[in-house]
Amino acid sequence: MKLKSKKADIFVPNGSSESEALKRTTHLSIAAHQDDTEIFAYNGIAECFGRSDKWFSSVIVTDGAGSPRSGVYKDYTDEQMKEIRISEQRKAASIGDYSIQIQLAYPSSAVKNPAAKEVSDDIFAILAETKPQVVYLHNPADKHDTHVACVIRAIEALRRLPEKDRPAKVYGCEVWRNLDWLCDDEKAVLPASDYKNVAGALLGVFDSQITGGKRYDLAAIGRRLANATFFASHETDECDSLIFAMDLTGLVKNAKLSIADFTVDAIERFRNDVKSRINKFS
Ligand SMILES: [Zn+2]
Repeated sequence: MKLKSKKADIFVPNGSSESEALKRTTHLSIAAHQDDTEIFAYNGIAECFGRSDKWFSSVIVTDGAGSPRSGVYKDYTDEQMKEIRISEQRKAASIGDYSIQIQLAYPSSAVKNPAAKEVSDDIFAILAETKPQVVYLHNPADKHDTHVACVIRAIEALRRLPEKDRPAKVYGCEVWRNLDWLCDDEKAVLPASDYKNVAGALLGVFDSQITGGKRYDLAAIGRRLANATFFASHETDECDSLIFAMDLTGLVKNAKLSIADFTVDAIERFRNDVKSRINKFS
């Protein structure tokens, strides 16, 4: 596979060849930063864990520069910080039994620049080799600029795939903003209950992000528990951990759909749901 990024880091945890690791991929996550995959795509990681017929792979688009640093990392330069983040992501790939971990190492400014085609070109190159059945992305209503730019670059790349190679399902998942607000009948509800020890370990390896006091590990697991508990008021929980996602499959199938309109339409339906419930009792 030829990538335009000169700094891409490619890691195959079980030592298979790169081409085999790409080809066997069935579930693919495309995320902005190291640790985003483990927060939002755990459904895919667990689905493929320990199996030989399903393989999860992860793409991290940015280089992790500019992240906050404290504790043992407080004197780290940007370059040292990038290295530690690459190494943490590789650890997660080993723990989660990923098929292949690709870190494209683009600066976040390149991801945010619609004219910088190399980002979506590299995502396209990975998609063309992996042809995944299920793809996990950020959701377009996230509040982190790089996350939103990353999902746009990924959708651009997915739309370039020939129709027969497009994934059956594309999910936009939660990181910096929950998706509890999506109307229940529109939520893609992704179970995340299996292998809780693995789920914990996957989040725990990102020490450089957690050490400053941001307990992403506890928060991500807590959100899954909260999602499951508050999802349906009249039922007992069949599954005690859920990740919510926006179903973005339609955006990939129909390249003419505006990403902004698609997202705002969901907000409009939420608005109407709130309004009609209040009106019912007023
Ligand atoms: Zn992120």
